[in-house]
Amino acid sequence: MNPSPDNTLIVFIIIAFALYSFSRYVKYNLPGSSFIKNKIGRYLMYGKLNPIYQPYLYQYFPVLNKLSETERLLFESRVQKFINMKTFVSRGNIKQITPEMKALIAGSAIQITMGYPDVYFSHFRTIIIYPDVYYSRLTKHYHNGEVNQLGVIVLSWKSFMEGFRDPRDGVNLGYHEMAHALKLENIVDNDEYEFFDSSIVNQFEKEAIKEMQKVKESTEETSFFRKYSATNLNEFFAVAIENFIERPTEFKAYNINLYLLLSKILNFDLLELSPYTV
Ligand SMILES: [Zn+2]
Repeated sequence: MNPSPDNTLIVFIIIAFALYSFSRYVKYNLPGSSFIKNKIGRYLMYGKLNPIYQPYLYQYFPVLNKLSETERLLFESRVQKFINMKTFVSRGNIKQITPEMKALIAGSAIQITMGYPDVYFSHFRTIIIYPDVYYSRLTKHYHNGEVNQLGVIVLSWKSFMEGFRDPRDGVNLGYHEMAHALKLENIVDNDEYEFFDSSIVNQFEKEAIKEMQKVKESTEETSFFRKYSATNLNEFFAVAIENFIERPTEFKAYNINLYLLLSKILNFDLLELSPYTV
């Protein structure tokens, strides 16, 4: 006997409700540490990554090969959720947004929020991708990328990919722009608000001012952080995050205090590999 369309709908609703209730149960009632419960609960709630994105994630985010199975699944499902939440818009001669673009942009966002698994840059709903550097009528300059207060992230795809070409040089436009977005997300009054510890941010900024002075005084070759980091505290924060992800060992050896403060702000440390601690 074939079920009628009405019955199929009811069965579907019951199954969906049961899955939702089970995931809530796992998250809040299962015995065991909250660390494990949260991870399983989130995974069940966010769902599985579309396999089309998987190869790009594993190619460009080496951290995935160092995580436990559960942590990898969480990273993947967070990437899927980020992709689902955003509208990707192409400009210029980009004919279509490819899975690679979505995977790498979402992956950059999830990489820097490993310590904040509930943060999805919710203020930023639109991601605009230009093929190359683009002209801004506002600043009258060409840009590689920007994060705009109205909730738009703009990226040059060419510059974005250049950031991933050398994964160990501490230069990565994706992490840079996501760092700006994360800092703005922290001050925009929404459901993702003030997740940074402000006293740690203050300590970080005091140390950052000293570093920016060193950058200004040194030649390009002798400073750990590149010249652009001395522009202002926001740019320093973004450049520091690029280095925190791409060359953590060198960063820590160079200035352990600054490194540890940044790892407290971001709530994870790639050298300790203890993400998702909340
Ligand atoms: Zn910047």
